[in-house]
Amino acid sequence: MSLTLSSAHVHTTFCDGKTPAPDMARAACEKGFLSLGFSSHAPQDFDPGYCIEPAREEEYKALVRSLREEYAGRMTVYLGVERDLYSCVSPDGYDYYLAAVHYFRHPDGHHTPIDGRPEKLLSYVDACCGGDGLEMARRYFALLRDYVVSAHPPIIAHFDLIRKNNAALRLYDEDGEPYRRMALDALRPMADTGALLEVNTGAIARGYLTTPYPAPFLLKAWKEWGGEVIVNSDCHDMRYLDTHFAESEALLRSLGYDHAVRLGKSTLWERYSL
Ligand SMILES: [Zn+2]
Ligand SMILES: [Zn+2]
Repeated sequence: MSLTLSSAHVHTTFCDGKTPAPDMARAACEKGFLSLGFSSHAPQDFDPGYCIEPAREEEYKALVRSLREEYAGRMTVYLGVERDLYSCVSPDGYDYYLAAVHYFRHPDGHHTPIDGRPEKLLSYVDACCGGDGLEMARRYFALLRDYVVSAHPPIIAHFDLIRKNNAALRLYDEDGEPYRRMALDALRPMADTGALLEVNTGAIARGYLTTPYPAPFLLKAWKEWGGEVIVNSDCHDMRYLDTHFAESEALLRSLGYDHAVRLGKSTLWERYSL
């Protein structure tokens, strides 16, 4: 049994998830969740199968608000959105959002997905980074750092998302000093924004990684800088609503964290002990 009893990062059939929103809410309530935040991928003007259709954004908001009414008193439901850097909509009108970078944008306007099929990222590294995986990592972190530092989002989603494809492609050495320094340098200014750093177990559920995003050395530094964390499942299937939460809580304790933050029962955010 985990302590978190919440996830602010879940996807449904409004975007690329498998579970309809009402079924996700019922599963969360049955698990004893205190709160649940829906966070479909915000509308964008490319890769349409991945995000909320622009024409359905109001339907998404209305359905989540109706679930909020239905579960009032048992579990607090929030209307969130996962907003990519290249999304075409404002996060205004949502209770909160997660800031994420999922793509590299090319000068001609097309996009390479960062966490999509490995061969797509590999061809980006070969064609645009001279075959240098570290250069790709540098570009990714620069995009996310600039997004977070300028937008001050409530939550930083999957900070080191590039680990997903690096697990298979080995584009750079994750334990090497150049990569670690680069990641720490990108994370450091984010601590001053007050954003919550997400501990994201989604890639464990899908079999890509064995530890959450971000890597432990980053979580350790975040703690030293006084940053706050939120444990999220990024689940696309209700079976994985709180997958690897207990292990992630234990990891946080081992790094010196005595609390984390979650969506609250009666206030938007609340602290709880680990
Ligand atoms: Zn994401
Ligand atoms: Zn997500």
